[in-house]
Amino acid sequence: RSWAESKLSPELLKAVEKAGYKTPSPIQMAAIPLGIQQRDVIGVAETGSGKTAAFILPMLTYITKLPPISEENEAEGPYAVVMAPTRELAQQIEDETVKFAHYMGIKVASIVGGQSIEEQGFKLRQGCEVVIATPGRLLDCLERRYAVLNQCNYVVLDEADRMIDMGFEPQVVGVLDAMPSSNLKPENEDEELDEKRIYRTTYMFSATMPPAVERLARKYLRNPVVVTI
Ligand code: AMP
Repeated sequence: RSWAESKLSPELLKAVEKAGYKTPSPIQMAAIPLGIQQRDVIGVAETGSGKTAAFILPMLTYITKLPPISEENEAEGPYAVVMAPTRELAQQIEDETVKFAHYMGIKVASIVGGQSIEEQGFKLRQGCEVVIATPGRLLDCLERRYAVLNQCNYVVLDEADRMIDMGFEPQVVGVLDAMPSSNLKPENEDEELDEKRIYRTTYMFSATMPPAVERLARKYLRNPVVVTI
């Protein structure tokens, strides 16, 4: 097992080294190359497995292929969204993301409940590539037009089963429906993908697969690879 096999860019490999991650964990070995190929992934893994870096590193790979968010494109919103059930988890994901993102000039904003929504709206208007959010607050920002997701084609649902347990299914669906649906991959698995265009990539992590989580997966994931660690 080595990072050299992970297909990460030299820039990200350096960031991983600086973070002190000597070898990739099993979930990272399995999930990172899939995300780099823009395949959808269902990850069944617990906290402590290294699952955060397993979805953040391919997400950052995707973002580095796009022009930086600047005054020219910030009005269309971020390139990637991570949703998590609680503020605490969102905070941990943000810490892990910033560890890698700050070497590459990628800006990260967290949008969670319990803080001033006006301040968060201000932060969003300044532009960022990545938003890490709890679903209720992000949907609130979308409904108030503080946030738009017109160019968001990379999405992570972390601890999807817990988000459902907490009653967030409508909010998760509301956020997913605010992203350009024209970029969802075709439902027919046999249809060829156009290598020159961008499709939505969705990562869903869940410790369990209750019916509501399966329903989300069926509606929003295309031909997902299930990675169980
Ligand atoms: P997670 O399962 O994503 O919550 O990660 C658990 C902890 O392991 C976090 O504190 C990470 O910073 C750390 N971690 C993740 N991947 C690695 C790795 N490949 N090597 C060393 N530590 C890691």
